[in-house]
Amino acid sequence: MKPFDYQRPSSVEDAVQLLADTPGSRPLGGGTNLVDLMRVNIEQPEQLIDVTALGLTNITHLDDRVRVEAGVRNSDLANDALLRERLPLVSAALVSGASAQLRNMATVGGNLMQRSRCSYFYDPHAACNKRQLGSGCDARAGFHRLGAVLGTSDACLSAHPSDLCVALAAADATVQVRSRDGEREIALTDFHRLPGDRPDIETALEPGELITSIEIPYLPSGFRSSYRKVRDRASYAFALVSVAAALRVEDGVVTDVRLALGGVGTKPWRATAAEEYLRGRPATATEFTAAADAELAAAQPTPDLEFKVALARRTVTATLRDLVEVSA
Ligand SMILES: Cc1cc2nc3c(=O)[nH]c(=O)nc-3n(C[C@H](O)[C@H](O)[C@H](O)COP(=O)(O)OP(=O)(O)OC[C@H]3O[C@@H](n4cnc5c(N)ncnc54)[C@H](O)[C@@H]3O)c2cc1C
Ligand code: SF4
Repeated sequence: MKPFDYQRPSSVEDAVQLLADTPGSRPLGGGTNLVDLMRVNIEQPEQLIDVTALGLTNITHLDDRVRVEAGVRNSDLANDALLRERLPLVSAALVSGASAQLRNMATVGGNLMQRSRCSYFYDPHAACNKRQLGSGCDARAGFHRLGAVLGTSDACLSAHPSDLCVALAAADATVQVRSRDGEREIALTDFHRLPGDRPDIETALEPGELITSIEIPYLPSGFRSSYRKVRDRASYAFALVSVAAALRVEDGVVTDVRLALGGVGTKPWRATAAEEYLRGRPATATEFTAAADAELAAAQPTPDLEFKVALARRTVTATLRDLVEVSA
């Protein structure tokens, strides 16, 4: 591991000043992803800015939304009683991620910024455009079961690994960020970037910016929501496919729907084509499958990933069908 400086500021102002003063600085949340990458020299920050003493640990329930500060641990957010009641898809997504020990350490800010789980990204001897731009992509001809089928490019097909972000994409969450120059807000759906020819640039966060909070609007009345994750083993595994869904049905007709997919997109994937298809249609399994097909028409699976298209279709259908059955 390359030597680095360690700072533990006690205010956001000091943290963003430190980030601006030393360009190679990185925020440190729970360290569950960053420190692993530093151990194998894939991340080599000059300076770590520990954000756990900034006091960014509040979950504030407002009239129409919840504000969650960036230092809130994944387990504390998952266990928040009002969140479970008002945004069950978000707490279910959190509980499905990693292990209890990891969730106790991992922060909300770190979850949004976690990096690829592609095994070639973690192997310094492999070609990986995300790690070293222009070196190639060994995953394409190699093992890429966790790869994406939507939003891929010739340069990279790594699927975004976060469960929380899939639920946040469905729930219209926003991300508040701060730098020495001020604050700004980014829609979660614009926060993560498609790889294109620059898979090394993964988010809209600019150098010197710190995530301070996220805000999640409550679902309007009449919505039911859930998060379903399909993986190779029952726990402690990343998604092959996941679905975050919120559905409102009146007299057997879909009056509104929010849908996002995980495990299949190079970013948390808001399924707008499926949503558009479904609004105003009968809430039946046939229509749910047709909606999934509308979204997956853009999929470009490698031969090894064709199973994901079929799996995503089934998972979307089952998730929405269960929401209707619970409402009935
Ligand atoms: C074995 C294992 C299994 C896992 N399984 C899952 C899973 O199934 N689903 C899932 O969603 N996740 C999973 N994870 C990922 C885990 O959720 C992430 O490691 C975790 O969320 C990262 O949070 P952290 O606070 O530890 O981040 P860190 O490791 O501290 O940081 C990660 C990145 O975020 C940046 N960062 C941290 N805080 C901020 C901030 N406030 N502003 C800007 N940048 C910031 C850091 O600089 C770094 O680049 C797994 C991890 C492991 C190790
Ligand atoms: S899929 Fe992306 S992360 Fe994996 S080797 Fe290719 S460029 Fe790297």
